[in-house]
Amino acid sequence: MKSIYDMSYAQMEDWCLSKGWKKFRTQQIFAWLYKERVTDFDAMSNLSKETREELKKDFYFNPLTLVRKQESKDGTTKFLFKTEDGALLESVMMVFDYGNSICVSSQVGCNMGCAFCASGLTKKQRDLTSAEMTAQVMHVQKELDKKGERLSHIVVMGTGEPFDNYDRVMNFIKTVNHDRGLAIGSRHITISTSGIVDKIRKFAEGHYQYNLAISLHAPDDTLRSKLMPVNRAFGLDQLMSAVEYYTSLNNRRLTFEYILLKGVNDSPEQARELARLLRPYCCYVNLIPYNAVDEHGFKTTTREEAMKFYDILKKEGIAVTIRKEHGSDIDAACGQLRIKEMKREKAAKQNQELSRKQQQEADSGLVENVYDEIAEKDEDALA
Ligand code: SAH
Ligand code: SF4
Repeated sequence: MKSIYDMSYAQMEDWCLSKGWKKFRTQQIFAWLYKERVTDFDAMSNLSKETREELKKDFYFNPLTLVRKQESKDGTTKFLFKTEDGALLESVMMVFDYGNSICVSSQVGCNMGCAFCASGLTKKQRDLTSAEMTAQVMHVQKELDKKGERLSHIVVMGTGEPFDNYDRVMNFIKTVNHDRGLAIGSRHITISTSGIVDKIRKFAEGHYQYNLAISLHAPDDTLRSKLMPVNRAFGLDQLMSAVEYYTSLNNRRLTFEYILLKGVNDSPEQARELARLLRPYCCYVNLIPYNAVDEHGFKTTTREEAMKFYDILKKEGIAVTIRKEHGSDIDAACGQLRIKEMKREKAAKQNQELSRKQQQEADSGLVENVYDEIAEKDEDALA
């Protein structure tokens, strides 16, 4: 039994054929799922009762439950979901001039261990299924339906390394991109990778029209290896040769993401070094204001310094933009809401444990006042 959101159009067609049905059934099923956006097989009213029963035997609907929603003044909305096995994940909806965009998570936690990232604070528990990624998008789209709006862009930039979960991510994208799926245009879909070189090459060979973004964050190997352990496995030489391979096979400009970390990677000399590194490639640089994560201690570059960095790149002939900050009044850095909730759950468990201990002690006649201890633990956990 799996979620029906796991099925790409081609897989659904094969499934229908295996039931001895015509391919046309897939069109009907996909229209109910992605155009009408129903969440109940019995709502698929142009399918016979038998067909619906067959669907119910093999599939269920939503693999995610909404735990919390946080809305910012600028419209940015964070959604915290729980999976069936109790894992927490986060999606963010952002409002731009050009439309509504969702940032999707691809894994529960992340193993890449980048020194500045909230997601890297917890090891990967598991990959998300295609259904769990599609469900994030469907949930947000259904929220927008209430206002008569649609999602126009998808970025796979939430928690997780998408190229460490390559097949499921690509399958998910196929569904949301499909004309009979959500029909989100290829050029409105972006996948961001920390630089898993063999998968960049594989992606290049797929000749997709989706956008590829690479998290660079440093212009030299020494610093990049410190910030991003992935660089110890695939250094800049290997990364840049994969980039060259990508641009040779695809007539697409790729984007390099560069978080500005105060006093770490934001000096004028580093800007010039970055320009030297990237000049040979057909690319954009997206400078990202850092969302401070308390646990890591990095600081955000000032607006003034960021502009200096930007100007140098521009003068050196690099196409560059500075990302606008979104949702700065809510837990802005991706993965922070999830970490907060995990702490909350841990504190609740500790409380339960302490109450159980207290009960046991009361039962055995050793009544102690443990409330202070509970309060202390609570504070620590939520600090
Ligand atoms: N794992 C992939 C995609 C998810 S992270 C990757 O690393 O590319 C998406 C982007 O957000 C990456 O460029 C990442 O470096 C950046 N990022 C991580 N933590 C951030 C923070 N606290 N503030 C701003 N950007 C951050
Ligand atoms: Fe993982 Fe990306 Fe965060 Fe690095 S920046 S820890 S790859 S989610």
